[in-house]
Amino acid sequence: MVKHTGGCHCGRVRFEVLAPAAIAVSECNCSICSKAGYLHLLVPADRFPLLCGREALTGYTFNTDTARHLFCSTCGIKSFYVPRSHPDGFSVNARCLDPGTVESMTVRPFNGREWEKSVAALREEV
Ligand SMILES: [Zn+2]
Repeated sequence: MVKHTGGCHCGRVRFEVLAPAAIAVSECNCSICSKAGYLHLLVPADRFPLLCGREALTGYTFNTDTARHLFCSTCGIKSFYVPRSHPDGFSVNARCLDPGTVESMTVRPFNGREWEKSVAALREEV
């Protein structure tokens, strides 16, 4: 495990993530992820200390209202959120990690358009 850091574009939201140096991320094709180009790095809550910016976050929910999509109210970047697949953890946007600590990134497709069919396999992995 290494300590990655990251955040939104303007810098109000900053966090640390404990994850391997070689990360595996999911590229989801659902209605919101495909528009945002979001790359999911799923981590348990205890491996994601939010350093600052809680007050800067604006929330958005839709469909089942389980996922809490969080974005910076200043710059609009969604650097992490609470995913429907792991409501007790976090999905960090791998595109928002600072350079320097990620040795490699494996991108795997996740079929979020058929979420109910796809989620079991994802939950087994994380
Ligand atoms: Zn920001």
